[in-house]
Parts: sequence; structure tokens; C-alpha cells
Amino acid sequence: MKYFLAIIGGGPAGYTAAEKASKQGKSVVIFEQNALGGTCLNVGCIPTKTLLYSAKQYYNALHADKYGVKAEGVQFDYAKIAQRKNKVVRKLVAGIKQKLNNDCCTVVPAAAKVLSRTDDTVVLEAAGQQYEAENLLVCTGSSNFVPPIPGVQDNPAVWDSTSALAATELPASMIIVGGGVIGMEFATLYHELGVPVTVIEAMPVILPNLDQDVVKVLRDKYEKAGIRILTDTKVMSLNGNQVTAQPAEGEAITLEAEHILISVGRRPNLDGLEALEGLEFTRKGIQVDDSMRTNLPNVYAAGDITGKIMLAHVASRQAEVAVSRMLKQIPVQRIAYNAIPSVVYTNPEIASVGLTEKEAEDIPHEVRTMPMTFSGRFVAENEGETGLCKMLVDTKHRTVLGVHMIGNPCSEFVAAASFAVRMGYTIEEFEQVVFPHPTVSEILKEIL
Ligand code: NAD
Repeated sequence: MKYFLAIIGGGPAGYTAAEKASKQGKSVVIFEQNALGGTCLNVGCIPTKTLLYSAKQYYNALHADKYGVKAEGVQFDYAKIAQRKNKVVRKLVAGIKQKLNNDCCTVVPAAAKVLSRTDDTVVLEAAGQQYEAENLLVCTGSSNFVPPIPGVQDNPAVWDSTSALAATELPASMIIVGGGVIGMEFATLYHELGVPVTVIEAMPVILPNLDQDVVKVLRDKYEKAGIRILTDTKVMSLNGNQVTAQPAEGEAITLEAEHILISVGRRPNLDGLEALEGLEFTRKGIQVDDSMRTNLPNVYAAGDITGKIMLAHVASRQAEVAVSRMLKQIPVQRIAYNAIPSVVYTNPEIASVGLTEKEAEDIPHEVRTMPMTFSGRFVAENEGETGLCKMLVDTKHRTVLGVHMIGNPCSEFVAAASFAVRMGYTIEEFEQVVFPHPTVSEILKEIL
């Protein structure tokens, strides 16, 4: 049998593409060597958020007094927290399996390798069997990057995000190398569960790609709470559970912790694609155009493998666009990269969409800022917390260029801002939208 579409990788890009193509009546084979759901569901977004939710419950109970609630003898059982995380993952993976079965996709639970390709046929091999398809979608994702720092390789004290998620016991203390998204989410988890945490970041700031006024609110809170954050500091070497780091100024320092989490980025998974002769790459992954086509006519790529923006929701949207292009659907779909929301699940959460001030440098714009405390619901539910909402408005066109927020639960309403950015709403159009009261989302209306 020759399939319409072969997909390598069953993460958010792969399973979204499989569903979309099969719903259009196309035959699909999807290969997944680990569990369906990919990094996001198995060793990324979902398990992290599940653990973070337990940590937040514990932390809130410890600090319930500020809401007039007495909770004495509050404890947690980390083994149980980890078990619940596994249960959540199992349930969601089973849901994806069910959906793909219902859509009649052929799911092959094995690693696939491309054997050959012509403009009308791709031949793959998995678990000793050959498969043929008209089109190929590469969604092989990414893996934790292991930096070439002496002492990192084969060091039992070193964890990456996958080993941290797999642990059934909490570390006694933790050094986190890399103050990016993964680093700060794990810093939140361990800190809220009482583990002493040090974050070491090579850049002058943590979360360097985000709006720094928003990040400052987080850093101030975390440092006050006792998280040690060393920026402008490069990790030079590891020796067992000791880390030697060099600050931009002054002498090198040596720190020690039971475990060292390395979270310095991810790299695309390129194994099994060697037979795709002539496939072009960028510095970050497989090169694709706006329709997710590679330079080889019947080969598409979506998700982290493209190295564009490593987020699950970008991956699934890229997959939708790729399948739509394969099906030659009109109108041609595109991804609005200017309106991709992103969330960092710290406490408080950070959520943003669109351009930062730095990115909007060449566009005449005004910056509006407002403390989250202008929202009644925020004040009611965030005792003693501060938060910030920042909006960039194009001076000429009066459109929303970007929104950057810190304050719970901004992850839940950043989609409203994404909508405004995506649709190119002017401030006057956005003003006509009614937001429910009392919700923290009203901050988006207050700021207009
Ligand atoms: P990242 O790129 O977000 O952060 C890595 C950080 O490590 C950077 O700030 C970098 O300056 C720093 N760094 C690099 N080398 C260093 C060194 N030798 N010493 C100290 N610091 C060093 O990468 P990540 O946090 O590993 O996340 C990987 C990907 O996964 C990202 O694309 C991220 O967006 C995605 N992700 C997203 C979410 C979410 O959406 N909530 C959660 C987790 C991961």
C-alpha cells in the first residue's frame, strides 16, 4: 500500500498532522519510537505543569495565612506527586492513541528511517518493514542540548529536564545551569517545595528573550524569596556535584549541590533522515518555507525540527499549515509568527505575545504599562503580589504590536491579546470587546 502521508514523530506536530490529513480522507502512517505525544506530553509541558501544580498547592497552603486560612502541619509526598504526574501523562497519551485509532491512521511504534526518495515516493523502514508514501512530514522534534562543559558528560549528579521529571525523590539542593524557560520553571518547582536553588545564567539577565520589565518583577520576587540567581556568570566546569563558574567580573566561584540541572537549550533530532539527499538546513534545523515545505518537493517539516520557535502550539499550527499545503487547499494557510503567545509557568506566570520593545525598535510605537493591581480580581486573589501588563501600540496604525504580562493567571487570557495581534485590531476595535467582570483579563481593557 502507498500512503498519502508518512509522518515521522508522534508529538504535537505529528499527531496534529495525522488527524488533519486523515479527517480529509487521506491515508496516513505515523511512526513514533517512544510514546505518542512526544516531548510535550511525556517529558515536557504536561508533566512539568502537573508537578508545578502540586508545588503551587503546597506553597499556597503554606502561605494560606495571608488569606485568613489556617493550615497547620502542611506536608507533601513527592513520590505521590510524581505518581500523579505519571497518571496524567498516561491518560493524555491514551487519548491521543484513541483519536488516531478513531481516525484510522496506521500507528507504527518504532523508529523510522528514510531509505530513498523520488518526487512522487518516499520509502521508509521501521521495525524491519518497508513503507511507501507520496509525502513525508518530518516531525522528529528536539533533544536537550548537552553543552561541551568539562565534567558534564557521564556525571551522575547532572540532570536534564527529562531526568528531573523522572525523579521520584526531591534533590536536597539544586544548581540550575541556564536561566531560560526550562531553568526558571524548574527553579519554581524546587523552590516551592523547599529545595535551596541557585540559577546560573551566562547572559546579563534571566529569560533574556522576554520583556525585561516583566522579568524584573519575577527576579525581585524570587531573590527576595531566597532563590540565588547569578547572571553574567558562565559555568566553566563540573567536578562531581561541584560547579565552577566565572562571573563577568571578579574571581571564579565554586558552588555545590546534590544535583545540577543543565537547561541550556535544545537541538533538533536529525537521525534517520540521512537518505534525504540535498535536504537543506538552517543553523537551527531543517529549512522550510511559509507552507512548511522543505527544498525537496514532497518533503515537509514541522515542529522543533525546523528550529523556528520551539513551542508545542507552534508545532501543531505548523502541522496544520503543512497538511493544508499538501492538500492544495485554498486559501493558502500561513502561520502568523508575529502573534505566537508564549508562557513561562513560574509563579507568578509570565505570558506574552508579539513584539518586545527591542524587536519593535524600528517601528514607531508607544508603550503602555499598568500594574496588575488595577484588576479587582487580581487584588482579591493575589494578596501581597505585584504584577505588570505592558502593551506596545503602533503609533501610526494604532494596532497592538505586543503584550507582555506577569501575574496569575495571565496564561489563561493571553490568547485574547494574541487574537488582537493576529487580527491586526486597532485600539479602537479592541476597546469594543467586552471582557467578563471580575476577571484579571480586564487588565487588557483597562490598559487601552
Ligand atoms: P532557553 O534557550 O530558553 O534557555 C537557555 C538559557 O541557558 C539561555 O538563557 C542561555 O543564555 C543560557 N545558557 C546557555 N549556555 C549557558 C552556560 N554555559 N552557562 C549558563 N547559562 C547558559 O532553553 P531551555 O530553557 O533549555 O528551553 C528549551 C526550549 O524549550 C526553548 O525553546 C523553550 O521555549 C522551550 N520550552 C518552553 C516552555 C514553555 O513554553 N513554557 C517550557 C519549557 C521549554
